[in-house]
Amino acid sequence: MRIRSAVLREMGMAPPYATSRPLEIVELELDDPGPGEVLLRVRAAGLCHSDLSVINGSRPRLMPMALGHEAAGEVVACGEGVTRVRPGDHAVMVFVPSCGECDPCLAGRAALCEPGAAANGAGTLLSGAHRLHALDGSVVQHHLGVSAFSDHVVCAQESVVAIDPSLPFEIAALFGCAVITGVGAALHAATIEAGDRVAVFGLGGVGLAALLGARLAGAEVIGVDVVESKLALARDLGAFATVHAGPDSVAEVRRLTDGGANVAIETAGHEFVLADAYAATRRGGTTVTVGLPDPSKQLSIPAVSLVAEERTLRGSYLGSGVPAHDVPRMIELYLDGRLPVDRLLSDTLPLEDINEGFDRLASGEAIRQAIVF
Ligand SMILES: [Zn+2]
Ligand SMILES: [Zn+2]
Repeated sequence: MRIRSAVLREMGMAPPYATSRPLEIVELELDDPGPGEVLLRVRAAGLCHSDLSVINGSRPRLMPMALGHEAAGEVVACGEGVTRVRPGDHAVMVFVPSCGECDPCLAGRAALCEPGAAANGAGTLLSGAHRLHALDGSVVQHHLGVSAFSDHVVCAQESVVAIDPSLPFEIAALFGCAVITGVGAALHAATIEAGDRVAVFGLGGVGLAALLGARLAGAEVIGVDVVESKLALARDLGAFATVHAGPDSVAEVRRLTDGGANVAIETAGHEFVLADAYAATRRGGTTVTVGLPDPSKQLSIPAVSLVAEERTLRGSYLGSGVPAHDVPRMIELYLDGRLPVDRLLSDTLPLEDINEGFDRLASGEAIRQAIVF
């Protein structure tokens, strides 16, 4: 079928994107779903920093690529052998398909699914297939098995999770990346205990979701960012203090936590912010990072501190959980009023305005914007 999609042909084009227009809205040919695959009508797709990292070239991918990885939609048709969803279901798309059968999947570490990582790296669906083609027949790469900035997509059934249909699509989409990543970092990776003091470095969609997850776990939270409006929103969402990021932010967090945070969560994607997050924790503290710095960047920390001060430094991808298990639970917590993630959505926009949307994301003006179809 013919679809409309935002395609990135070349990485590293200069901002502002409203002028250079790295994402081109084009018609593509979408193949029918193969065995185990699902055709979805996309209803909302979020703009995430990881998309921006592909646009600016700091997270290189095969080109041309139909971008976007955070979305929700409606199941239109299912290929042979699909058991996880049925036509008419509402679903959230997840940016790592988890096969359920490889060693990491069997160990409960869906984010590390080996065939899933291989497919994402190759720009294909989990089966290895390309279902997207330009009108001349040439291949267009899938972005993380989702390619959400398209009015319809074909995904592996392992990339979709059925959800409560009462949820508005633009809220549901957030669960596919920002919420599962941020809340999962707090609940699964950070092992927060009630009363812990948690510092969240970087207050975009993922950071604010981490703040909400830490609050849910009973923590006292400090938010750190350079954007005043994000600090204000963090206080609104329950942070007891906020710190304007700068040369004194480590000292300030350590002062506000009487000697250092029990847990620091870094979501900014810069190695110098991760170094600050680590330095802001106390003896015995844990630092969790979910940001994706440029691959050329190195982190330097005092090596002895890991042992002599029993510190922990760990990475977390996809919330370190199992999406098919976590997404419905997190949605229940939202519907119950305990995880107000709708506050992360700053704006909705049409597909045509996607380049302007990425300018607003890059400048820090927007938190989460969703394309609505
Ligand atoms: Zn994302
Ligand atoms: Zn697997």
